Amino acid sequence: MTDDRPSPNPELAPGLDPALDPATLVVRGVRAPAPETLPEGLRARPHVAPVYLGVAYDFPSVAAGAVPLGGEQGYAYGRYGHPNGRELEGTVAALEGAEAALATASGMAAMTATVITQAQAGDTILLQRDAYGGTAAMFREDLGRLGIRVEAVDAYDVESVTRALESGPRLLIVETISNPLVRTPDLAALASACHAAGAKLVVDGTFATPILSRPLDVGADVVLHSATKYLGGHHDVVAGVVCGDAETIAAARRTCVRLGGTIAPFDAWLVLRGLRTLALRVERAQENARGLVSRLGDHQRVQGVNYPGWGAMFSFDLGSLDAAERFIGALRLVTYTASLGGVATTLSHPCTSSHRSLSTEEREGLGIGDGLVRISTGIEALDDIWTDLAGAVDAAAA
Ligand code: PLP
Repeated sequence: MTDDRPSPNPELAPGLDPALDPATLVVRGVRAPAPETLPEGLRARPHVAPVYLGVAYDFPSVAAGAVPLGGEQGYAYGRYGHPNGRELEGTVAALEGAEAALATASGMAAMTATVITQAQAGDTILLQRDAYGGTAAMFREDLGRLGIRVEAVDAYDVESVTRALESGPRLLIVETISNPLVRTPDLAALASACHAAGAKLVVDGTFATPILSRPLDVGADVVLHSATKYLGGHHDVVAGVVCGDAETIAAARRTCVRLGGTIAPFDAWLVLRGLRTLALRVERAQENARGLVSRLGDHQRVQGVNYPGWGAMFSFDLGSLDAAERFIGALRLVTYTASLGGVATTLSHPCTSSHRSLSTEEREGLGIGDGLVRISTGIEALDDIWTDLAGAVDAAAA
């Protein structure tokens, strides 16, 4: 260190010791005060929350670190939680009418944290027979090895679910809108049946979003989401959220932290940004779905469209794998994409994607034919999507 260097401007470099060696200086650097901590007259709050990429927090004393290092309150370490995650959790909890929420690294992490907290070896879990394939695979491949038994049920037949509940399962897991046949179980009836049998109802609300359905309001105990879909809404982030009462979510958080399923700060920030337009996007996408279903209903080449009357997802069968291939090949706007719930209209061909691990018999048993395509409507102009779909339906029939 030479003595002839000018001292740093104390306003630009508060607290910086000019005697520090450059090697130390670059490591320790200068920390600008957070805008909201400036003196009165200079104080300002960032309009959009900053991304807290820093993983670890410094404590001014051992006492100050004691509570945060416990991992449940305050901030100590990125895997325990961070301001971006908390902001997302508070927003989704409010949207779902829940006491609390936990943001996770994916929808599957939300499901895993929920199930592992609620069930243990020897327990049985009832799972909707046509649940998302990733959920079914996790139950089959992972929970089975841990001694948690899974039993498939017909979620649309409350009587048969009630019979299955007699054996004392811990949980029933269903989806608000199923994929790809977009069927909608009676959540209120299932919640009553579960509670009468001492079980809890866990709802995967990914396809409906809290804009269209709030499962906790009709008695569900937990609602979770793949935020990768509508909540994020732009196909640029993988994330999940689980909502429920404070005790359930605190337990899920402890499990999630131990398992390493915490959401990353920038991912939480991206989901939050997506949430700002959730209501607008979902309303517009639903309007587009209704418009397309109505036009397809009048199309002589389409035999029946699966659509519950609400939501932004519908499916129809083109009759054969060849026809589905011609249809997908003829699309110019709508894309065949391995996700859903984004701003752009996308489609899936379940028998070769989400449901390809099922045997032909299993798929047929569920009503998923080789020609079935499932559309997730986006927010484009209805006429443009219609022109694309109608042209592709004609090409499929040619
Ligand atoms: N739930 C449903 C209904 C899904 O469709 C998916 C993924 O497609 C998931 C959960 C899993 O979500 P993620 O891919 O974010 O882990």
